[in-house]
Amino acid sequence: MCIFCKIVKGEIPANKVYENDEFLAFNDINPKAPIHILIIPKKHIESFQNATPELMSKITPFIKEIVKKFELDKRGYRLITNVGEEGGQEVMHLHFHLLGGTKLLWPKLTTDESKKYI
Ligand code: AMP
Repeated sequence: MCIFCKIVKGEIPANKVYENDEFLAFNDINPKAPIHILIIPKKHIESFQNATPELMSKITPFIKEIVKKFELDKRGYRLITNVGEEGGQEVMHLHFHLLGGTKLLWPKLTTDESKKYI
C-alpha cells in the first residue's frame, strides 16, 4: 500500500487540515513554503494522468475551499502536481501541492542545460 493510502487509512500519522468523503488535505512533512498542503483523493489514483474529468470537477472546489480557508484567494498561491519520473513525482498517488503564505519565487525547473531553450 502506498504511503498516502496509509495516511488515508490512519496507519501513519499526518497533520490533516481538511477532509470530506472523497478527499484529504494535510501538511507536507517537508514544507517548501509557510503554507504547503498536499491535497489527495482518498481513492488510490497514480497521477494526474489517471485523473478523470469527473474527479477534477470534484477536487477543484475542494482545493478552492482550502485556498479560501487559508485566505490564499486574496494573497495568491501556487498549485502543482508532479507527474512521473521526469516530472519529479516521488509518491505515486495523485496529489496537488498548494503552496503559499509568502511571495513565491519561480524556481529553477531544470538543469543548466535549460539555458539552451532561452
Ligand atoms: P512529489 O515529489 O510531488 O511526489 O511530492 C511528494 C511530497 O510528499 C513531498 O513534498 C514530501 O515532502 C511529501 N511527503 C512524503 N511523505 C509524507 C508524509 N508522511 N506526510 C506528509 N508529506 C509527505
